[in-house]
Amino acid sequence: TTNNRAYNFNAGPSALPLEVLEKAQKELVNFNGTGMSIMEMSHRSKDYEAVHNEAIARLKKLYAIPENYEVLFLQGGASLQFTMVPMNFLQEGKKASYILTGVWSEKALKEAKLFGEPVISASSKENQYRNIPTSNEIKFDSDDAYVHLTSNNTIYGTAWRDFPDTGDVPLIVDMSSDIFSKAVDISKFALIYAGAQKNLGPSGVTVVIIRKDLLEKENTNIPTMLKYSTHADANSLYNTPPTFGIYMLGEVLKWIENQGGVPAIERNNVEKAGLIYDVIDNSKGFYKGHATEDSRSFMNITFRIADEELEKQFLAEAKEAGFVGLNGHRSVGGCRASTYNAVPFEACKALADFMVEFQKKHQ
Ligand code: PLP
Repeated sequence: TTNNRAYNFNAGPSALPLEVLEKAQKELVNFNGTGMSIMEMSHRSKDYEAVHNEAIARLKKLYAIPENYEVLFLQGGASLQFTMVPMNFLQEGKKASYILTGVWSEKALKEAKLFGEPVISASSKENQYRNIPTSNEIKFDSDDAYVHLTSNNTIYGTAWRDFPDTGDVPLIVDMSSDIFSKAVDISKFALIYAGAQKNLGPSGVTVVIIRKDLLEKENTNIPTMLKYSTHADANSLYNTPPTFGIYMLGEVLKWIENQGGVPAIERNNVEKAGLIYDVIDNSKGFYKGHATEDSRSFMNITFRIADEELEKQFLAEAKEAGFVGLNGHRSVGGCRASTYNAVPFEACKALADFMVEFQKKHQ
């Protein structure tokens, strides 16, 4: 590539914008003339607090988050949210509905069983998680504690187009692999959570967007650190936050702003993924997409080559040609290209061209 940067299609952690990495490199040992790295500063210092508050403010602005929501920076990854959600909002003997669209939703369901009685609302497991359930397949009860779903299924390459209307039942969403990839109407959700390491920064920060009224429904007899209100009341500074990760997240948000905000990012993502889906669709069956067309993700493109030996060769040749991270998730195999926000158009174009050439050579 032109700048010694790999064509990085890793599913997570994933590519970060080059401009952000270069800025962080420049500021690494002396942030803002302080003579210290941002990593070496007190999280109670003015310099750090400015970074922290600016990241929260920019996140709210760029994602058009209404006033009645809090933005939190937590730790423990999206996986700890699988636990925190039911620990805070599900009571013994109470029900919550879980929509299963892949392994991550299964993991969320498993944790909920420790606290209450989660019910499977709909599932596409029988169809190898190739699709997103339609709205008339989704069942939930008006007195469910909440409905939980995964907006983008990193492993299977499927994504929700339209979210179900759950009325007064809080809708809780794991947005780990498509947060900030497209515009969403935040007011549909009671709680959104996402590990930062795909679209927003390095691993170590988990973003939570929570509607304030939900905080009042939280269970009381639970550990302080695992309560949302602890972090909401302290502006995510109850204890030492992952300061470097939050700084990086703030820089990624500035980059998104400079790209033209979420609408511009969304247009780019549709175009980037389109390059690769077009190759699959025009390959006369040489490449087979895993997801059904109406459930396709613009973040993770999953496909197979019918001949297993040829698929191995594809992955080997792609690696040789400098493409990183194209192996499917270890649980499903096949191929997967993750085209998150920071993956440049140029990398997607190069992959699309490579796929066309590979087919020509081996068909
Ligand atoms: N949810 C989804 C949709 C994911 O893609 C991932 C990780 O890839 C996780 C949850 C787990 O996230 P973490 O590693 O931050 O716990």
